[in-house]
Amino acid sequence: MISGLYIEEDVSTHPRVLEIRDRFPKAPIVTCERYGEILNRKAQNFRLQKQQPALILSRKHNKHVLPAPAGYSIGGAHNYYFSHMLNCLYDCRYCFLQGMYRSAHYVLFVNYEDFVAEIAQICAQHEGASVYFYSGYDCDSLALEPVTGFSAYFLRALAHVENAYLELRTKSTQVRQLLTQTPSPKVIIAFSFTPAEIAAVLEHKVPALERRIDAMVKLQEHGWPIGLRFDPLIYTPGYQDLYRRLFANVLSRLNIPLLHSISFGVMRMPENFYHNTVRLYPRERLFAAPLERIAGMMAYAPPVEQQMLDFCQTELLRYVAPEKLFPCRF
Ligand code: SF4
Repeated sequence: MISGLYIEEDVSTHPRVLEIRDRFPKAPIVTCERYGEILNRKAQNFRLQKQQPALILSRKHNKHVLPAPAGYSIGGAHNYYFSHMLNCLYDCRYCFLQGMYRSAHYVLFVNYEDFVAEIAQICAQHEGASVYFYSGYDCDSLALEPVTGFSAYFLRALAHVENAYLELRTKSTQVRQLLTQTPSPKVIIAFSFTPAEIAAVLEHKVPALERRIDAMVKLQEHGWPIGLRFDPLIYTPGYQDLYRRLFANVLSRLNIPLLHSISFGVMRMPENFYHNTVRLYPRERLFAAPLERIAGMMAYAPPVEQQMLDFCQTELLRYVAPEKLFPCRF
């Protein structure tokens, strides 16, 4: 799973680093000064590296937590995101990460304590209001849990921050750790889905749809609040039928009154990341879709986007009340 370890000198004796070293006793280890030396090196091939990524253990020095993009909310007044990792175990062809970084190596920021301190500080500024923190922006929140212990630590640490809500977004089936914990009403486990026919073509290395649904159902039965994220919606002729069947499949397995939220939004990618990605995968059919340049993003033409959002909203309202639905518009 991991071809080697790069370790920043600064964190070489951090307890989390020592634990990870023990987990990979045979992995070659290289010491470095800053992760950027490895991640931003020129003449790297993301596509080739994705076959055998290394793990870079690093410290994040600033901007641990950032305001979420305008238009993203699942009900909280204040919204922020953070990434304890850069890059992902999975390989979704629509993912902006492949166009963002030169390298596919994973970066893990091991100084979780600093993230939590910043979250607590932000919550103190919004005293009395619920503040939502989204993880899984530059990675999958749970896919590497056995290595990172990320959710185990953050659930424990944030339990004491009264107005902090946490969304763990994932396509993973790594739920064993969560099933050993007492569920918190302030932590939403959010699963993102695309129809199986689209996932088979675009979501490489992601566990099969039915296995992810099984994992999600187990979590809900255990008492965890569950979110559904149909994001990105991917256009294909006949998408209506594919998404109608996906919604029916997923929602028929859940206890709907207990569902926390559903959000949905169409595919879009910053223009420069899009061009980098097309260079990596010039034959990818996804990029032959009618995408347009709109305010620095590559996105479907507004009428297509509107039609998709309207369709999904109408379909999803057959299952849930409007207050649980959150369309993402950018
Ligand atoms: S699971 Fe999410 S973060 Fe990982 S490659 Fe797919 S879209 Fe990107």
